[in-house]
Amino acid sequence: MKSVIIVHHHEITLKGDNRSFFERQLMKNVRTVLSGLLPSSSVGGGYGRFVIHIEEQSEVDKIVERLSFVFGLANICVGVEVEQNLDVFCETAKKLLEGQSFKTIRVHTARSDKKFSHGSMAVNAKVGEAICNHFNVRANLKEPDETINIEIADNTAYVYRAKLKGAGGLPSGVSGKVVSLLSAGFDSPVASWKIMKRGASVIFVHFHSMPYTSQHSVDQVRQITEVLTKYQFTSKLYLVPFADLQNEIVLQTPQSLRVILYRRFMVRIAEEIAHREKAEALVTGESVGQVASQTLRNIRNIEIAVTLPILRPLSGTDKEETMALARRIGTHDISKEPYDDCCSFLAPRK
Ligand code: ATP
Ligand code: MG
Repeated sequence: MKSVIIVHHHEITLKGDNRSFFERQLMKNVRTVLSGLLPSSSVGGGYGRFVIHIEEQSEVDKIVERLSFVFGLANICVGVEVEQNLDVFCETAKKLLEGQSFKTIRVHTARSDKKFSHGSMAVNAKVGEAICNHFNVRANLKEPDETINIEIADNTAYVYRAKLKGAGGLPSGVSGKVVSLLSAGFDSPVASWKIMKRGASVIFVHFHSMPYTSQHSVDQVRQITEVLTKYQFTSKLYLVPFADLQNEIVLQTPQSLRVILYRRFMVRIAEEIAHREKAEALVTGESVGQVASQTLRNIRNIEIAVTLPILRPLSGTDKEETMALARRIGTHDISKEPYDDCCSFLAPRK
Protein backbone atom coordinates (compact mmCIF):
# COMPACT_ATOMS: atom_id res chain seq x y z
CA MET A 1 0.00 0.00 0.00
CA LYS A 2 1.61 3.24 -1.17
CA SER A 3 0.48 6.79 -0.42
CA VAL A 4 -0.62 8.68 -3.52
CA ILE A 5 -2.52 11.76 -4.59
CA ILE A 6 -4.66 11.32 -7.68
CA VAL A 7 -5.52 14.44 -9.66
CA HIS A 8 -8.14 14.31 -12.40
CA HIS A 9 -7.97 16.51 -15.47
CA HIS A 10 -10.73 19.05 -15.94
CA GLU A 11 -11.96 20.27 -19.33
CA ILE A 12 -9.00 18.96 -21.33
CA THR A 13 -10.53 15.50 -21.33
CA LEU A 14 -12.90 16.99 -23.94
CA LYS A 15 -10.07 17.97 -26.28
CA GLY A 16 -9.61 15.91 -29.41
CA ASP A 17 -6.40 15.49 -31.37
CA ASN A 18 -4.41 18.09 -29.45
CA ARG A 19 -5.26 16.67 -26.06
CA SER A 20 -1.67 15.54 -25.48
CA PHE A 21 -0.47 19.15 -25.86
CA PHE A 22 -2.79 20.19 -23.01
CA GLU A 23 -1.75 17.21 -20.89
CA ARG A 24 1.95 17.93 -21.32
CA GLN A 25 1.46 21.54 -20.21
CA LEU A 26 -0.63 20.42 -17.24
CA MET A 27 2.05 17.91 -16.23
CA LYS A 28 4.70 20.62 -16.50
CA ASN A 29 2.62 22.94 -14.30
CA VAL A 30 1.98 20.27 -11.67
CA ARG A 31 5.70 19.50 -11.53
CA THR A 32 6.57 23.20 -11.31
CA VAL A 33 4.17 23.84 -8.47
CA LEU A 34 5.48 20.84 -6.51
CA SER A 35 9.16 21.56 -7.07
CA GLY A 36 11.01 21.78 -3.78
CA LEU A 37 8.52 19.37 -2.19
CA LEU A 38 8.89 16.37 -4.50
CA PRO A 39 11.19 15.24 -7.32
CA SER A 40 9.48 15.65 -10.69
CA SER A 41 9.69 11.87 -11.20
CA SER A 42 7.09 11.48 -8.42
CA VAL A 43 4.39 12.75 -10.79
CA GLY A 44 3.27 10.11 -13.29
CA GLY A 45 0.79 10.21 -16.13
CA GLY A 46 -2.37 8.27 -16.88
CA TYR A 47 -5.50 8.64 -18.94
CA GLY A 48 -7.44 11.65 -17.59
CA ARG A 49 -5.43 11.65 -14.37
CA PHE A 50 -1.96 12.06 -12.90
CA VAL A 51 -0.70 10.06 -9.96
CA ILE A 52 1.63 11.68 -7.44
CA HIS A 53 3.65 9.32 -5.25
CA ILE A 54 4.18 10.63 -1.72
CA GLU A 55 7.32 9.80 0.25
CA GLU A 56 6.74 12.06 3.27
CA GLN A 57 3.25 11.84 4.77
CA SER A 58 3.86 15.14 6.59
CA GLU A 59 4.06 16.99 3.25
CA VAL A 60 0.56 15.97 2.10
CA ASP A 61 -1.23 19.14 3.25
CA LYS A 62 1.34 21.38 1.60
CA ILE A 63 1.13 19.41 -1.64
CA VAL A 64 -2.68 19.58 -1.69
CA GLU A 65 -2.59 23.32 -0.96
CA ARG A 66 -0.26 23.96 -3.89
CA LEU A 67 -2.25 21.72 -6.24
CA SER A 68 -5.42 23.65 -5.40
CA PHE A 69 -4.05 26.58 -7.45
CA VAL A 70 -3.34 24.58 -10.61
CA PHE A 71 -5.81 25.37 -13.38
CA GLY A 72 -6.79 22.30 -15.39
CA LEU A 73 -7.37 20.02 -12.38
CA ALA A 74 -10.94 18.89 -11.70
CA ASN A 75 -10.23 17.38 -8.29
CA ILE A 76 -7.54 16.24 -5.89
CA CYS A 77 -7.84 12.91 -4.07
CA VAL A 78 -5.58 11.77 -1.26
CA GLY A 79 -5.41 7.99 -0.99
CA VAL A 80 -3.40 4.84 -1.58
CA GLU A 81 -2.27 2.64 -4.45
CA VAL A 82 -2.96 -1.07 -4.04
CA GLU A 83 -2.98 -4.25 -6.11
CA GLN A 84 -6.10 -5.20 -8.07
CA ASN A 85 -7.72 -7.56 -5.61
CA LEU A 86 -11.21 -7.52 -4.05
CA ASP A 87 -10.04 -8.55 -0.57
CA VAL A 88 -7.33 -5.92 -0.65
CA PHE A 89 -9.96 -3.29 -1.60
CA CYS A 90 -12.08 -4.30 1.41
CA GLU A 91 -9.16 -4.18 3.85
CA THR A 92 -7.91 -0.85 2.46
CA ALA A 93 -11.36 0.75 2.68
CA LYS A 94 -11.64 -0.34 6.31
CA LYS A 95 -8.22 1.12 7.10
CA LEU A 96 -9.06 4.47 5.47
CA LEU A 97 -12.33 4.70 7.42
CA GLU A 98 -10.87 3.68 10.78
CA GLY A 99 -11.49 6.39 13.40
CA GLN A 100 -14.13 8.23 11.31
CA SER A 101 -17.57 8.69 12.75
CA PHE A 102 -20.23 7.88 10.13
CA LYS A 103 -23.55 6.10 9.85
CA THR A 104 -23.90 5.72 6.09
CA ILE A 105 -21.52 4.77 3.30
CA ARG A 106 -21.35 4.66 -0.47
CA VAL A 107 -18.71 2.86 -2.54
CA HIS A 108 -18.02 4.24 -6.00
CA THR A 109 -15.87 2.24 -8.39
CA ALA A 110 -14.55 3.29 -11.80
CA ARG A 111 -12.95 0.49 -13.80
CA SER A 112 -10.93 1.69 -16.77
CA ASP A 113 -8.87 -1.52 -16.85
CA LYS A 114 -11.36 -4.01 -18.27
CA LYS A 115 -8.89 -6.86 -17.71
CA PHE A 116 -9.98 -6.85 -14.07
CA SER A 117 -12.70 -9.49 -14.11
CA HIS A 118 -15.22 -7.95 -11.65
CA GLY A 119 -17.48 -5.17 -12.87
CA SER A 120 -17.70 -1.93 -10.92
CA MET A 121 -21.16 -2.81 -9.53
CA ALA A 122 -19.83 -6.07 -8.13
CA VAL A 123 -16.90 -4.26 -6.51
CA ASN A 124 -19.27 -1.67 -4.98
CA ALA A 125 -21.47 -4.43 -3.53
CA LYS A 126 -18.62 -6.49 -2.11
CA VAL A 127 -16.65 -3.61 -0.56
CA GLY A 128 -19.87 -1.94 0.65
CA GLU A 129 -20.93 -5.09 2.42
CA ALA A 130 -17.53 -5.47 4.09
CA ILE A 131 -17.69 -1.89 5.38
CA CYS A 132 -21.29 -2.19 6.59
CA ASN A 133 -20.52 -5.38 8.52
CA HIS A 134 -17.29 -4.10 10.01
CA PHE A 135 -18.51 -0.67 11.17
CA ASN A 136 -22.18 -1.54 11.60
CA VAL A 137 -23.33 1.18 9.17
CA ARG A 138 -25.81 1.29 6.28
CA ALA A 139 -25.39 1.95 2.57
CA ASN A 140 -26.75 5.23 1.28
CA LEU A 141 -26.12 6.05 -2.36
CA LYS A 142 -27.67 9.53 -2.37
CA GLU A 143 -26.34 11.37 0.69
CA PRO A 144 -23.79 9.20 2.46
CA ASP A 145 -21.70 10.46 5.41
CA GLU A 146 -18.64 8.84 3.84
CA THR A 147 -17.66 7.68 0.36
CA ILE A 148 -14.99 5.22 -0.67
CA ASN A 149 -13.76 5.65 -4.24
CA ILE A 150 -11.98 2.87 -6.07
CA GLU A 151 -10.30 3.44 -9.43
CA ILE A 152 -9.17 0.32 -11.22
CA ALA A 153 -6.54 1.54 -13.67
CA ASP A 154 -3.88 -0.15 -15.82
CA ASN A 155 -2.68 -3.12 -13.72
CA THR A 156 -3.11 -1.17 -10.50
CA ALA A 157 -5.81 0.43 -8.34
CA TYR A 158 -6.34 3.52 -6.21
CA VAL A 159 -8.56 3.85 -3.15
CA TYR A 160 -9.47 7.14 -1.48
CA ARG A 161 -12.15 8.84 0.58
CA ALA A 162 -12.88 12.44 -0.32
CA LYS A 163 -12.47 14.34 -3.56
CA LEU A 164 -11.35 17.95 -3.07
CA LYS A 165 -12.45 20.34 -5.78
CA GLY A 166 -9.61 21.52 -8.01
CA ALA A 167 -9.31 24.98 -9.61
CA GLY A 168 -10.87 23.82 -12.93
CA GLY A 169 -10.28 25.67 -16.21
CA LEU A 170 -7.42 25.15 -18.65
CA PRO A 171 -3.72 24.70 -17.80
CA SER A 172 -1.80 27.95 -17.48
CA GLY A 173 0.20 28.60 -20.64
CA VAL A 174 -1.92 26.80 -23.26
CA SER A 175 -3.68 29.91 -24.58
CA GLY A 176 -0.76 32.27 -25.22
CA LYS A 177 -0.12 35.63 -23.54
CA VAL A 178 -2.30 38.63 -22.67
CA VAL A 179 -1.55 42.02 -21.11
CA SER A 180 -3.90 42.93 -18.27
CA LEU A 181 -4.53 46.50 -17.10
CA LEU A 182 -4.42 46.04 -13.37
CA SER A 183 -5.62 48.64 -10.88
CA ALA A 184 -5.84 48.20 -7.11
CA GLY A 185 -9.66 47.94 -7.39
CA PHE A 186 -11.88 44.86 -7.17
CA ASP A 187 -12.58 44.25 -10.85
CA SER A 188 -9.33 44.00 -12.76
CA PRO A 189 -7.74 41.35 -10.46
CA VAL A 190 -10.84 39.18 -10.96
CA ALA A 191 -10.81 39.81 -14.72
CA SER A 192 -7.13 38.78 -14.84
CA TRP A 193 -7.88 35.62 -12.88
CA LYS A 194 -10.76 34.67 -15.20
CA ILE A 195 -8.54 34.91 -18.26
CA MET A 196 -5.77 33.00 -16.46
CA LYS A 197 -8.32 30.29 -15.82
CA ARG A 198 -8.80 30.00 -19.59
CA GLY A 199 -5.13 29.09 -19.94
CA ALA A 200 -3.61 32.49 -20.76
CA SER A 201 -0.36 33.72 -19.24
CA VAL A 202 -1.07 37.20 -17.89
CA ILE A 203 1.41 40.10 -17.93
CA PHE A 204 0.33 42.95 -15.65
CA VAL A 205 0.46 46.69 -16.32
CA HIS A 206 -0.32 49.31 -13.69
CA PHE A 207 -0.42 53.08 -14.29
CA HIS A 208 0.50 55.31 -11.35
CA SER A 209 0.82 59.06 -10.81
CA MET A 210 3.71 59.11 -8.40
CA PRO A 211 4.97 61.41 -6.91
CA TYR A 212 1.50 63.08 -6.87
CA THR A 213 -0.10 59.94 -5.47
CA SER A 214 1.33 57.73 -2.72
CA GLN A 215 3.39 54.58 -2.98
CA HIS A 216 0.41 52.80 -1.41
CA SER A 217 -1.53 51.92 -4.58
CA VAL A 218 1.63 50.53 -6.15
CA ASP A 219 2.20 48.35 -3.07
CA GLN A 220 -1.40 47.13 -3.25
CA VAL A 221 -0.97 46.21 -6.90
CA ARG A 222 2.21 44.33 -6.04
CA GLN A 223 0.33 42.39 -3.35
CA ILE A 224 -2.50 41.60 -5.77
CA THR A 225 0.04 40.40 -8.31
CA GLU A 226 1.56 38.11 -5.69
CA VAL A 227 -1.82 36.52 -4.96
CA LEU A 228 -2.54 36.01 -8.66
CA THR A 229 0.93 34.57 -9.25
CA LYS A 230 -0.02 31.50 -7.21
CA TYR A 231 -2.20 30.55 -10.17
CA GLN A 232 0.42 31.03 -12.89
CA PHE A 233 3.69 30.49 -10.91
CA THR A 234 5.58 33.47 -12.33
CA SER A 235 4.48 36.98 -13.34
CA LYS A 236 5.77 40.21 -14.77
CA LEU A 237 4.41 43.57 -13.56
CA TYR A 238 5.01 46.79 -15.52
CA LEU A 239 4.67 50.01 -13.49
CA VAL A 240 4.02 52.88 -15.85
CA PRO A 241 4.45 56.51 -14.72
CA PHE A 242 1.33 58.29 -15.98
CA ALA A 243 1.34 61.74 -14.34
CA ASP A 244 3.10 63.70 -17.11
CA LEU A 245 0.65 62.39 -19.65
CA GLN A 246 -2.27 63.24 -17.39
CA ASN A 247 -0.97 66.78 -16.92
CA GLU A 248 -0.79 67.18 -20.66
CA ILE A 249 -4.36 65.90 -21.14
CA VAL A 250 -5.63 68.26 -18.44
CA LEU A 251 -3.93 71.25 -20.05
CA GLN A 252 -5.01 70.54 -23.60
CA THR A 253 -8.44 68.91 -23.57
CA PRO A 254 -11.95 69.58 -22.23
CA GLN A 255 -12.64 68.20 -18.78
CA SER A 256 -15.52 66.02 -20.02
CA LEU A 257 -13.15 63.95 -22.17
CA ARG A 258 -10.48 63.44 -19.53
CA VAL A 259 -11.30 59.96 -18.30
CA ILE A 260 -11.82 58.59 -21.81
CA LEU A 261 -8.51 60.08 -22.90
CA TYR A 262 -6.72 58.57 -19.90
CA ARG A 263 -8.16 55.18 -20.85
CA ARG A 264 -7.26 55.55 -24.51
CA PHE A 265 -3.66 56.28 -23.58
CA MET A 266 -3.61 53.40 -21.13
CA VAL A 267 -4.68 50.90 -23.77
CA ARG A 268 -2.24 52.35 -26.30
CA ILE A 269 0.66 51.96 -23.89
CA ALA A 270 -0.56 48.48 -22.91
CA GLU A 271 -0.70 47.56 -26.60
CA GLU A 272 2.91 48.64 -27.07
CA ILE A 273 3.90 46.42 -24.12
CA ALA A 274 1.85 43.59 -25.65
CA HIS A 275 3.80 43.89 -28.90
CA ARG A 276 7.11 43.70 -27.04
CA GLU A 277 5.90 40.72 -25.03
CA LYS A 278 4.34 38.99 -28.05
CA ALA A 279 0.97 39.04 -26.29
CA GLU A 280 -2.19 38.71 -28.36
CA ALA A 281 -4.85 40.61 -26.42
CA LEU A 282 -5.45 43.17 -23.68
CA VAL A 283 -7.64 42.56 -20.63
CA THR A 284 -9.59 45.06 -18.50
CA GLY A 285 -11.99 44.79 -15.57
CA GLU A 286 -14.71 46.85 -17.27
CA SER A 287 -18.34 45.86 -16.81
CA VAL A 288 -21.01 47.35 -19.05
CA GLY A 289 -22.75 50.30 -17.41
CA GLN A 290 -21.00 49.95 -14.06
CA VAL A 291 -19.68 53.50 -14.00
CA ALA A 292 -20.00 56.46 -16.37
CA SER A 293 -16.77 55.62 -18.18
CA GLN A 294 -18.09 52.13 -18.97
CA THR A 295 -21.10 52.92 -21.15
CA LEU A 296 -21.14 51.10 -24.48
CA ARG A 297 -20.24 54.32 -26.28
CA ASN A 298 -17.22 54.90 -24.05
CA ILE A 299 -16.15 51.28 -24.30
CA ARG A 300 -16.26 51.65 -28.08
CA ASN A 301 -14.28 54.89 -27.99
CA ILE A 302 -11.59 53.21 -25.89
CA GLU A 303 -11.58 50.11 -28.06
CA ILE A 304 -10.86 51.98 -31.32
CA ALA A 305 -7.64 53.47 -29.95
CA VAL A 306 -5.93 50.10 -30.45
CA THR A 307 -5.98 47.20 -32.90
CA LEU A 308 -5.44 44.32 -30.47
CA PRO A 309 -8.64 42.82 -29.08
CA ILE A 310 -9.59 44.01 -25.58
CA LEU A 311 -11.02 41.13 -23.54
CA ARG A 312 -13.48 42.12 -20.82
CA PRO A 313 -14.28 38.96 -18.88
CA LEU A 314 -16.51 40.92 -16.48
CA SER A 315 -18.51 42.75 -19.15
CA GLY A 316 -21.73 40.99 -18.13
CA THR A 317 -20.96 40.46 -14.45
CA ASP A 318 -22.66 42.15 -11.48
CA LYS A 319 -20.59 43.74 -8.72
CA GLU A 320 -21.75 41.12 -6.16
CA GLU A 321 -20.57 38.23 -8.34
CA THR A 322 -17.22 39.96 -8.81
CA MET A 323 -16.84 40.59 -5.07
CA ALA A 324 -17.65 36.95 -4.30
CA LEU A 325 -14.98 35.82 -6.75
CA ALA A 326 -12.48 38.34 -5.33
CA ARG A 327 -13.03 36.78 -1.91
CA ARG A 328 -12.49 33.29 -3.27
CA ILE A 329 -9.34 34.24 -5.15
CA GLY A 330 -7.89 36.16 -2.19
CA THR A 331 -7.68 39.69 -3.67
CA HIS A 332 -10.76 41.14 -1.93
CA ASP A 333 -9.10 42.25 1.29
CA ILE A 334 -6.27 43.98 -0.55
CA SER A 335 -8.64 45.79 -2.92
CA LYS A 336 -10.92 46.96 -0.14
CA GLU A 337 -8.16 49.19 1.28
CA PRO A 338 -8.55 52.78 0.07
CA TYR A 339 -6.10 53.73 -2.66
CA ASP A 340 -5.17 56.75 -4.72
CA ASP A 341 -3.95 55.66 -8.12
CA CYS A 342 -3.86 57.71 -11.27
CA CYS A 343 -7.68 57.72 -11.47
CA SER A 344 -7.97 59.89 -8.37
CA PHE A 345 -5.18 62.21 -9.46
CA LEU A 346 -6.58 64.99 -11.67
CA ALA A 347 -10.00 63.36 -11.75
CA PRO A 348 -12.65 65.55 -13.41
CA ARG A 349 -15.35 67.10 -11.19
CA LYS A 350 -18.06 65.02 -12.91
P1 ATP B 1 -11.21 48.19 -11.13
O1 ATP B 1 -12.04 47.69 -9.99
O2 ATP B 1 -10.51 47.11 -11.89
O3 ATP B 1 -10.32 49.35 -10.74
P2 ATP B 1 -13.29 49.99 -11.91
O4 ATP B 1 -14.66 49.43 -11.78
O5 ATP B 1 -12.76 50.88 -10.85
O6 ATP B 1 -12.27 48.78 -12.18
P3 ATP B 1 -12.42 51.94 -13.85
O7 ATP B 1 -11.72 52.71 -12.81
O8 ATP B 1 -13.33 52.65 -14.81
O9 ATP B 1 -13.30 50.76 -13.30
O10 ATP B 1 -11.33 51.17 -14.70
C1 ATP B 1 -11.70 50.35 -15.76
C2 ATP B 1 -10.54 49.42 -16.06
O11 ATP B 1 -9.41 50.18 -16.50
C3 ATP B 1 -10.04 48.66 -14.85
O12 ATP B 1 -10.81 47.51 -14.60
C4 ATP B 1 -8.63 48.34 -15.25
O13 ATP B 1 -8.59 47.23 -16.13
C5 ATP B 1 -8.22 49.59 -16.01
N1 ATP B 1 -7.54 50.54 -15.10
C6 ATP B 1 -8.09 51.54 -14.38
N2 ATP B 1 -7.15 52.17 -13.66
C7 ATP B 1 -5.97 51.58 -13.92
C8 ATP B 1 -4.62 51.75 -13.50
N3 ATP B 1 -4.29 52.72 -12.63
N4 ATP B 1 -3.68 50.93 -13.99
C9 ATP B 1 -4.01 49.96 -14.85
N5 ATP B 1 -5.24 49.74 -15.29
C10 ATP B 1 -6.22 50.52 -14.83
MG1 MG C 1 -10.77 51.39 -10.39
